[in-house]
Amino acid sequence: MWLAVLKRLKTKDRLLRFHVTDNAECILCSRSTESVDHLFFDCPYSFDCLEKVKDWLNWGVSSTSLPRIIRWIGKAKLSKFKKSLYSAVTAALVYQIWRTRNCKLWLSTLESTDAIVLKTKDAVKHRVMCMWPRNVTKRDIDWFNTL
Ligand SMILES: [Zn+2]
Repeated sequence: MWLAVLKRLKTKDRLLRFHVTDNAECILCSRSTESVDHLFFDCPYSFDCLEKVKDWLNWGVSSTSLPRIIRWIGKAKLSKFKKSLYSAVTAALVYQIWRTRNCKLWLSTLESTDAIVLKTKDAVKHRVMCMWPRNVTKRDIDWFNTL
């Protein structure tokens, strides 16, 4: 599901290939060509967001490559609750970064990484509270309440 979604993102490196644009520079950092790999999370801007999210969750994943992060979540020896929370956080962060990139592209406004992280946190908390899964251990509930 993930890879299918990512393949559809019209990043500039792809548009360049199809001659839709002649400027492939990443709009968030202006340092590199924009690609899916760059946006998630080689780009210094998204890397900063990812680091802040990892700090928030005390999340020990060291990779900055989205496919590896997804694989890490799949393999991690964690409760089902924590795994779904990490997945939800990753999805929310990807969404926020893509949204921010589009805002910068079309409206020329760039939000701070702190604002992106805050939106990601709110989205995840809201989602978990709306769809509180069954059979969550007290330990996981306590952990979630500290977030
Ligand atoms: Zn960049």
